[in-house]
Amino acid sequence: MPDVLVIGAGIVGLACAWSALKEGLTVTLVDRDFDGDRTSHGNAGGIAVTESTPISVPGLFFKASKWLLDPLGPLALDWKHVPSALPWFLEFQRASSPTRFRQISLALAALNNRVYDDLVPMFEDVGAMSTFYRRGAITLYETDEAFYADADEWKLKRELGVRWRALNQQEVREYEPALAPVFRHGIFLEDWSHIGDPKQLVSQLRGRVNALGARLVEDVVTKLDVSKGDAPAAVLRNGESIHARQVVVATGAWSAALAESVGDRVLLDSERGYNTTLPQPGIALSREVIFAERKFVATPLDIGIRIGGAAEFAGLKAAPNYKRSDALLTLGKRFLPGIRDEGAVQWMGHRPATPDSLPVIGKSPTTANVIYAFGHGHLGLTQCATTGALVADLLVNRTPRTSLEEYSIKRFRK
Ligand SMILES: Cc1cc2nc3c(=O)[nH]c(=O)nc-3n(C[C@H](O)[C@H](O)[C@H](O)COP(=O)(O)OP(=O)(O)OC[C@H]3O[C@@H](n4cnc5c(N)ncnc54)[C@H](O)[C@@H]3O)c2cc1C
Repeated sequence: MPDVLVIGAGIVGLACAWSALKEGLTVTLVDRDFDGDRTSHGNAGGIAVTESTPISVPGLFFKASKWLLDPLGPLALDWKHVPSALPWFLEFQRASSPTRFRQISLALAALNNRVYDDLVPMFEDVGAMSTFYRRGAITLYETDEAFYADADEWKLKRELGVRWRALNQQEVREYEPALAPVFRHGIFLEDWSHIGDPKQLVSQLRGRVNALGARLVEDVVTKLDVSKGDAPAAVLRNGESIHARQVVVATGAWSAALAESVGDRVLLDSERGYNTTLPQPGIALSREVIFAERKFVATPLDIGIRIGGAAEFAGLKAAPNYKRSDALLTLGKRFLPGIRDEGAVQWMGHRPATPDSLPVIGKSPTTANVIYAFGHGHLGLTQCATTGALVADLLVNRTPRTSLEEYSIKRFRK
């Protein structure tokens, strides 16, 4: 019986497996499709450590209603999905109250401010340093109105430890000459970085985890079985079980059903995001750029410029609606004039989103040898190694240097 069974081989599960192996534990890793597409393959590649405020910013509900009417807007909703998602939306609204907003921001900063301490050793070990670009990022504003409206949030971020400085129109042009000359303001984010190709990182990490001795099992886990107290198990499609001393659930947007199978309630939805990768863009960006008003980004990956973002609530099963990728590309072409789209590749992924933007990291309150590591929303790549380090602390009974109270699944108890 292995010490640890990790369920889910996206970037978070792999980071947990890597950290456990580094502790000298034996690991089995199960995924329904190791080579298949997953959220961790197609994301924007940003190490977005400056994103220490929740998505549910005060006033968002009002803006959201305007966005829903805009076909190029950043938000889409499948109305059929609304009834089942209602508790999630209500909790999302609650997250924007001033007290809760601040509390969540502190908890996000506690993770984000240690990201490089955890990520760099993992990147070094898997051979990912040569495609890790610490060049900062720029948030761009087209209007004075939007720039000044965000002033309080930038002030709070500085209090939380985020290093930033304002750029004027001329400075934005100097930093990124490929941008259309329409941005009146920019914010330079020193500590943001990006990687060359998220899919390649997943492959490198999986290769390393394999080389460190993990056993890889390709199968679907249908539920957890904790009836044998000291040997929890993952039950597979054919009814067989894999037992381990401890189980880590890292199945991204699909994690709620497994948590519920041991009696833990969670509010988790798929916040579907879209992008297009342009392999021969014909223009160059030096760093990731974030279009503040339109809520999308462009990242200069090694495999081309990736333009993406959007939030679509339509559940885990609905087919992708690539009109959302088209809409983002239309905006991208407006702001990056001359960008070429030959060979463009469209993609959709499921962000594992909690309503308060905080991940679920910690032991199950019902079953102490089941550990959760999911719900990272927009920040799964950013926080993967930190999550792995915290999970490893729990696996070896060490007190984590970051308190896990705020990330506990207990917060979703009715
Ligand atoms: C458009 C877009 C852009 C993004 N940009 C960024 C960014 O720039 N920076 C950043 O930090 N984050 C970004 N994210 C978020 C990030 O991609 C996710 O938070 C992260 O990939 C989640 O990783 P994960 O390992 O939890 O989930 P996943 O990558 O979804 O992996 C979950 C794994 O679990 C497996 N699985 C699920 N259920 C079962 C089961 N029952 N049995 C067996 N296996 C199962 C799946 O096959 C999958 O391999 C972005 C997301 C999107 C959609």
